[in-house]
Amino acid sequence: MSVPPPPSKDFIREIIDEDLASGKHDSTVTRFPPEPNGYLHIGHAKSICLNFGIAEEYGGRCHLRFDDTNPTKEDVEYVDSIKEDIQWLGFDWGDHIYFASDYFSKLYDWAVHLIKEGLAYVDDQSAEEMRENRGDLQTPGVESPFRNRTEEENLDLFEKMKRGEFKDGEKVLRAKIDMAHPNLNMRDPVLYRIVHAEHHRTGDEWCIYPMYDFTHGQSDALEYVTHSLCTLEFENHRPLYEWFLDNLPVPSRPRQIEFSRLSLNYTVMSKRKLLQLVQENYVSGWDDPRMPTVSGIRRRGYPAEAIRNFCKTIGITKYKSTNDIALLENSVREVLNRTASRFMAVLDPIKVIVTNYPEDQVEEFDAVINPEYPELGTRKVPFSRELYIERDDFMEDPPKKFFRLSPGKEVRFRCAYFLKCNEVVKDDEGNITEIHCTYDPETRGGENPPDGRKVKATIHWVSAAHAIDAEVRLYDRLFQHEAPDKDGDFLQHLNPESLSVLSNAKLEPNLGKVELGETVQFERLGYFCPDLDTSVEKPVFNRTVGLRDSWAKAQKKK
Ligand code: ATP
Ligand code: MG
Repeated sequence: MSVPPPPSKDFIREIIDEDLASGKHDSTVTRFPPEPNGYLHIGHAKSICLNFGIAEEYGGRCHLRFDDTNPTKEDVEYVDSIKEDIQWLGFDWGDHIYFASDYFSKLYDWAVHLIKEGLAYVDDQSAEEMRENRGDLQTPGVESPFRNRTEEENLDLFEKMKRGEFKDGEKVLRAKIDMAHPNLNMRDPVLYRIVHAEHHRTGDEWCIYPMYDFTHGQSDALEYVTHSLCTLEFENHRPLYEWFLDNLPVPSRPRQIEFSRLSLNYTVMSKRKLLQLVQENYVSGWDDPRMPTVSGIRRRGYPAEAIRNFCKTIGITKYKSTNDIALLENSVREVLNRTASRFMAVLDPIKVIVTNYPEDQVEEFDAVINPEYPELGTRKVPFSRELYIERDDFMEDPPKKFFRLSPGKEVRFRCAYFLKCNEVVKDDEGNITEIHCTYDPETRGGENPPDGRKVKATIHWVSAAHAIDAEVRLYDRLFQHEAPDKDGDFLQHLNPESLSVLSNAKLEPNLGKVELGETVQFERLGYFCPDLDTSVEKPVFNRTVGLRDSWAKAQKKK
């Protein structure tokens, strides 16, 4: 397998090509503008790959700007996690990190400018009254009784709002546009609201805060952003952003282009819902490995390269569509197949005694580190008289097509020997406790013996005396429903089996050297990585993804 071929240029890159060719711009400036009110998710990754990707390809620059206009929901914890996630994805904003809150003074001045132009007024209506008077698509809105206040009165009231003379919600500043406008966003939108709350950067300097809509476009203009790329739901905000650019003395005029957001099946992506999963303890945190957050995906062992490849594969369009999560998982497998070192681990162990192998003998066998890269060489794996194999690699009374270990049958123990099962030992309750085998010294290294005898299966194993005990966490989809958002309460679709913990796994000793951040292959089982909870005393591994898509198969069976 190889990296997917680059798709033909998307419509945004075509627009940029034209703008550069026509001389409209001589370089490109993009930005990624998260609100620090939650952790980044895979949808944000699409936007990050687009904005930072364009900056790289065109030799331009991409700003990281925090749109922090909502003090009650935002926090430095989120600012820090967002920075970490972008860097992990492989992108760099250099010196270009900004905060909308840096522009609060400028935005205040611009609000005053609009008042002086007769384009903004202070409204005393309650939020409810404003909602009622807004009208709808069929009905024009009703003008506020405060709409025709004089400039002096508006300036005075706005100043008093700023000085903290009013309570939250008592007054707002609104743009004076058109209460009958067919686009509801143009019906005198709110520009400033009163919020007596501490801001994570400006503290209690302000008690009025600009609305996102009054902030976003102007921030882009202040930063000389050339192409302001956002998701489709902002399409009908664009006339408002342009109205601000037309009516304010902005230093530049960014062009907004919308593209469709990423959505994945079996997943929810709304920050509100992700926050609910965290706060109500349905998951262990924002970085729970089942979460579609960048930090969850990282903890799960997905490589950043796989996320970038996935974003490239799905491309950028204006069509609303839902992508199959299997596509993301395949992209993870494609990268890990190339990069992951191979090891042996037994998740659900059953003991094998090699009765004809000397009690205190230990041999070391060479096992290939990565068959995709033979030049990486081999590792040493110890073999001894007592081994563990996977419980389901043995059947006492097997059906016809079961080729793994069973009484009287012989199989290859990977890179070691052929072993034949002679006896099964059980406890009082009839549970199998040991499998007794003999090995054939002529098959050393797992080679076929001189008599030409062949076996139909190769299984993995771990030497009991050398094994590292570990906990292994197996993850499945967090939701059972393909569209958990779209069918009643999303919480009812949680998959009760999304996490199973195996506390008795046995690892080949080399796995003790795998570091946090590395994902490896457990042969025949899938890709795994050390979890953040891991320690030398108690190693913990996460299953990143299976070797092939077993979900589709399991669903068919159901
Ligand atoms: P909120 O629900 O708080 O509005 P949001 O998902 O819009 O959340 P922001 O922090 O405002 O979050 O998003 C930052 C940037 O990421 C925006 O430019 C937004 O358009 C983009 N973005 C958010 N979600 C997706 C998605 N699913 N696909 C692509 N881009 C996205
Ligand atoms: Mg948003």
